[in-house]
This record gives sequence, C-alpha cells and structure tokens, in this order.
Amino acid sequence: MTPDLFPDSLKTVPVVVTAPLDGPFDYLLPEGRAMPVPGEVVAVPFGRQVLPGVVWDHPPARAVDPGRLRPLGPSLPIPPLPEPLRRLVAHVAKETVSPRGQVLKLALSTHAALDEPRTIDVYSPAADLAGRKLTPKQRQVVEQAALEARPQADLARAAGVSAAVVKKLVETGALLPESRIVEEPWPIPDPDRVQVTLNEGQAAAAYRLEQAVTARESAAFLLDGVPGSGKTEVYFAAIAACLKAGRQALVLLPEIALTSQWSARFARAFGVPPVTWHADIGSARRRKIWRAAIEGKVPLVVGARSALWLPLQDIGLIVVDEEHDTSFKQDDGVAYQARDAAMARARFENCPIVLASATPSLETVVATRRDGPDRIQRLVLPERHGSAPPPPVEIVDLRSTKRRRDSGFLAPRLADALRATLERGEQALLFLNRRGYAPLSLCRACGHRFRCPNCSAWLTAHRLRRRLQCHHCGFSMPEPEHCPECGTVDALALSGPGVERIADEVRHRFPKARTALLTSDTATTAGQAAAIVEGVERHQIDVLIGTQMVAKGHHFPDLTLVGVVDGDLGLSGGDLRAAERSFQLLYQVSGRAGRADKPGTVLVQTHLPNHPVMRALASRDRDRFIAAEIEEREEGGLPPFGRLASLILSGPRQQDVQAAARHLALAAPVQPSVRVLGPAPAPIALLRGRWRERLLVRASPEIDLPEWLRGWLEPVRLPSSVMLSIDVDPYDFL
Ligand code: ADP
Ligand code: ZN
Repeated sequence: MTPDLFPDSLKTVPVVVTAPLDGPFDYLLPEGRAMPVPGEVVAVPFGRQVLPGVVWDHPPARAVDPGRLRPLGPSLPIPPLPEPLRRLVAHVAKETVSPRGQVLKLALSTHAALDEPRTIDVYSPAADLAGRKLTPKQRQVVEQAALEARPQADLARAAGVSAAVVKKLVETGALLPESRIVEEPWPIPDPDRVQVTLNEGQAAAAYRLEQAVTARESAAFLLDGVPGSGKTEVYFAAIAACLKAGRQALVLLPEIALTSQWSARFARAFGVPPVTWHADIGSARRRKIWRAAIEGKVPLVVGARSALWLPLQDIGLIVVDEEHDTSFKQDDGVAYQARDAAMARARFENCPIVLASATPSLETVVATRRDGPDRIQRLVLPERHGSAPPPPVEIVDLRSTKRRRDSGFLAPRLADALRATLERGEQALLFLNRRGYAPLSLCRACGHRFRCPNCSAWLTAHRLRRRLQCHHCGFSMPEPEHCPECGTVDALALSGPGVERIADEVRHRFPKARTALLTSDTATTAGQAAAIVEGVERHQIDVLIGTQMVAKGHHFPDLTLVGVVDGDLGLSGGDLRAAERSFQLLYQVSGRAGRADKPGTVLVQTHLPNHPVMRALASRDRDRFIAAEIEEREEGGLPPFGRLASLILSGPRQQDVQAAARHLALAAPVQPSVRVLGPAPAPIALLRGRWRERLLVRASPEIDLPEWLRGWLEPVRLPSSVMLSIDVDPYDFL
C-alpha cells in the first residue's frame, strides 16, 4: 500500500463497536460526508449485524487494505459521547483486561436512547382559512390552535368539543401538523434552599469540599464519620455548591441504600425528588434519563453502580456513599470496581470526588496515608450530631450458653433484652445475614443431605414457599415428603437458622409482638421494601427481622435494641476481606440502635468472643482494628500492598476445563515478582452446571498486572467449550 493508492477523498474513521472486541476498527467515510467528530455515535456494519459504535479519538495503529473496508453507517441523532467517558471506557477496559467494545456497551446500555427523539404532532391553523366557512365549534378549535400549536386531543379539550370536530378540521386541511420533539420537564433541584446549620466539624469539612467544587480541583476526599455524624448533610452542601456552579453532580449509592428515605431527604433539602437510576426503573424512564444526561439537561443523578456510565456532560462533583460497600464491585462480565472507576472518571472530568463511609475500606484508608496523585484527603466528622452516644455493644458468648434442644437460636440474654424492650414499648431489630429458614436440609433417618444438582452447594430450606432452593443458580424443588435415598417418610430435618426461622422463634416466644421480615424474598421490589420500612417507622412493627437489607440507611427513632443472631457468619471462608467485611456489616447494623433520644443496646451472639472483630465492636475501636488489619495485609503482601487476579475457567466437561487450565498455567511467562497459583478446583467447583477451575495470580504492587495478564492471555487459544473469566483485584473468591 503506497500513499498513491489512497486518493485524498478516501478517508477512514476509527470506530469502537459495541461487540466483545477491542477495536477501534476502520470504516470508510462515504464520499461527500463530513468527518465525524470523536465521540459521535454511529451505526456500523459488523459481521452480519449493524451495531452502534463510537467514533474514537485515535486511529487504529495498523495499516489496513482500503478495498476491504466497509462504509461508515449513519450518525445517530444524539450528541457525542463526552471525552472523559470515552477515556473511562479505555481505562476500565485496560484495568479489567476486557475488550473495549464490551466496556463501551456499559456506556451505551440504553439502546432505546440511541433512537430518534420521540416526537408528537401538533396542529396550527392553515394560512388560507379566511375563505372557509367554519361552524362555531370549529371556530373555537381554530382559535385555540392559533394561540398555541397543540396535539389534537389537547385542542379538543381546550375548545370543549369532541375529538371528531378536530379530526374533521385536520382532514380538510384547516389544521396543519408539525412534528415536535417531546420536551420532558426535569425537576430542578434548588441549591439555595435553607440548609441545616452545620456544626463546627461539619462546617469545616463542607467548606473544604465547597472550595474544591468551586475551584474544579481534581482531588479525592474521604468523608469519615460514625453513622449519624452528618456525612450526608456535608456532601449535600458540596452538591449545592456544584449545582450553583451550573455543573452536574453524580451520586453513587449501593442499590439497597438507595431508599425512599434517602430520596425524601434529598427532596427536603433541594425541593424536588432526585433523579434515580437503578435496577427497578423501567425502560422508558431509563431512556429519558440517559438522553437528558447526554443533552446536559439533568443536573443530578443518584444511582447504583451502573449510574457511573451515564453520559453526563459536565460533571462538577462525584459522591460515592458507603464507599466500602462490596456491591460497587461487579463480579461478572466486565469485573470492575465502580468506586475505583469513579475515582478515574473524576480525574478525567477534572472534578472532586467524595467517598463517604463510617467504615472505610482498607484500600481507601491506605490511600489517605499516601502521597502523590493517588492521595485521598481525609475529612473527619468526629461525633454523632446531637448528643446521643453510640450504643454500647455487648458480646454474648454462646460457648457459655448451654443450648437445650428446644431452646432456639436466641440466647437467654438476647431473649430477655427483647422482652424488656417490648415491655417498654420500644422496637427491636434482629439481624441474620442468611435468607430462608435453614441452610441445610437432611434426612433424619439416613443423614442424606439435599444438594443442588447444578452446583456444589447445599439447598436452603424456604418455609414461606415450602421449597428447597439453591442460592447460586435458583434451582428449587418442593419440600420432599420422603427421602430420595432411604425412602423414609416425613424425616426431613432442617439444620441451622435462617431469618425465617428466627421470625418463627420470635412469634412463638412473643405472640403479641408485631413482627416483619425484611429479606430479598419478602421484598422483591423497592416498593415492598419501602412498605416494610414505613411500617417500622410508624411503629406498626415491634420486631424487624432481616438480612443485610436492614443494615443500611434507615432511621428508626423507637428502635433501641439490635440483636445480631450469628456474629460469626461472615468470618469463615478463605476470603481475605472476611474480617473487614464482617466488621463493616456488624458496625452498620449496630448503628441502627438508639439513634434519637432513647439510648440503645447492641447484643452480638458469637462463638468467637476473642476474635479481633468482636473486640473491635465491643470497644468501638475501629481505628485500631483497621490498623491491625492493614499491618496483616502489608506483611502478607495482600491488597492493597500487592495485587491479585482471579482467573476462572469453566465449561460443561470437567476434563476439558482441567486440561485448558493446565495449558493456560504452562503458558504463563516466568517473572520473579508474579506468581501463578493453581490451577485448582474453585471452592464452588460446579456452578449452574459448569465445572470451574481457578488460577490465582499474585503480583507485587510495582507490576502493571493488567498489562502482564494481557501479554500472557492474548496469544493463548482455548477450546470453544471453555470460558475464561478474568477478575483483577477480585472480591469474590468462590
Ligand atoms: P450520616 O450520613 O453520617 O449517617 P446524617 O447526615 O444522616 O449522618 O445525619 C444523621 C441525622 O442527623 C440526620 O437526620 C440529619 O438530618 C441530622 N443532622 C446531622 N447534622 C445536622 C445538623 N447540623 N443540624 C441538624 N440536623 C443534623
Ligand atoms: Zn445451584
């Protein structure tokens, strides 16, 4: 290919296509068409499909044969994808070792938004009406239409006539249509509404954030304070500053913290409800929000993880509340950590980012100790607003409580506290992070345990549905009448507690107490969860029993007792974050007690009273616990002092998967500061009918681990029956 073969008119356009490939790919610019700008969303032929893609900034590196190029398809009727968002796509693709096109899909997930904007026909009078004879009714319609062009139904209503009258006018050409893009009004938050008067510590933190917003500082902050210390009030002040500056704000919350309570609070502060983006919103709403974002019309969006990918045009502030929450990490597909990606987006947008938490992640705490561009500045809110002291935490040592066969799962200390609370007319919360009735079902006669046919997992008994259910793949079967192994009838024994069983126990012991169960089984939609929460707020419920759904964000003034049924639940298993996560969760839950004027109590049942997590809870010495954890990680070279990547190979035939895993391991380049461990069967060796082998990569921090992984994995060919998923900085070790 010499330059002579390229006539000047032959221009190519680099496009990243929403397909699981890297790109950008070259397309031929049709003659006479202007060169599209980077970010323009286009439709392009790809294989046998036509897919949306985005015009990329940099041309592809390799030379191509223009004879084989396909022509660029039409540009779609939306503004270009903003540059910081394109950089984010490239960044996340690199960090997660994912194809760029697959990451781009996250940013273009709302397909309907890429279509023509929705239009309606409005009608105005034709110019030559003077000569026509009109009935009085028709005249009324024409007068209305002359005032303002409107849809037919609106005109009929305004003129007080039937639809047929208007229709006739349209048919005879007396009213002429014109199509108009539907303009949806957006609620505009008012940043100047009277805010609360911040206390001294809050005001100092808020001032620093407002300053950073106004000056467009590219800085990261950790807003660190106990539950109730006013973190939300402080970042609301920063949001107000952002809105006043005419820029847009993006707030990320874990899905389950995005409650109606949060929205109501936002509405009180800013006068209008927030625009929310989460799993439950319908596709029409999704489309509206996405388009409003890219058109720069929506001043603020609050949403779960995926809101990070909204094409907001001029972001002035990003907030990640409950930044430690592991739901910010996506484990499948593009395995990205939304908090880290939000940090990157803030850098690209050149705006400040605020991470808020009462129990910050170790990664974030370590980053506050660092210097340089990755540094996070720590802003501390020292106490609860008002003077309610944090509730004391009492450890209930289950080892010294002899369990009688019939005694249930609440130790006498907890049962007594519950009785006293109910007698005082106050409310209690019992927390157990396990759905269903019992985690294990077995035959009393032969010991047969019921396991999932598709997964290496036991089936959980669900009494509400009278079924045994797998929590990994959704398999379920009716409670069996006889044992499939020995045939004994009515010998099903249910072992261990789930929340449903605790609810039964409470109803049995305290028949007069009004109870409610809050789990993903009883509240499958945000609305159902909100209804239960409202019941507790109105004190129509005395005892709330629930899984981690109850841990977050709710404020219940009459709730004075929190009982943790099994404090040890999160501590087992080979997860490097087990202790950290357990502490965070239990600390959050215990924060639900006694938030108003009534003092609260927290009781944590455990078999491990000397575990560092229990000690830290009892002494409320969070910082010492974090320091000890950090030291341990540092010694072990574990994150964030070293990096990990988990590679899972899976497929329907175990031998194929094992062979592929061995083949992959052998292909790993030898480098002293990277170790490849495995392959070994994953802890869940069979999942949804697929066998799973795992490789774990450990690297020193100075290694560019994603780059190293690419160099290793790209040349390797795996059989088509085996799938490889890559998780850099994994949270899930199953
Ligand atoms: P956090 O986000 O740290 O858990 P919040 O911002 O939710 O804390 O504050 C807890 C409660 O105290 C909220 O009801 C909040 O409105 C109230 N609050 C916090 N700071 C103030 C203040 N300066 N003036 C009045 N109320 C406040
Ligand atoms: Zn299963």
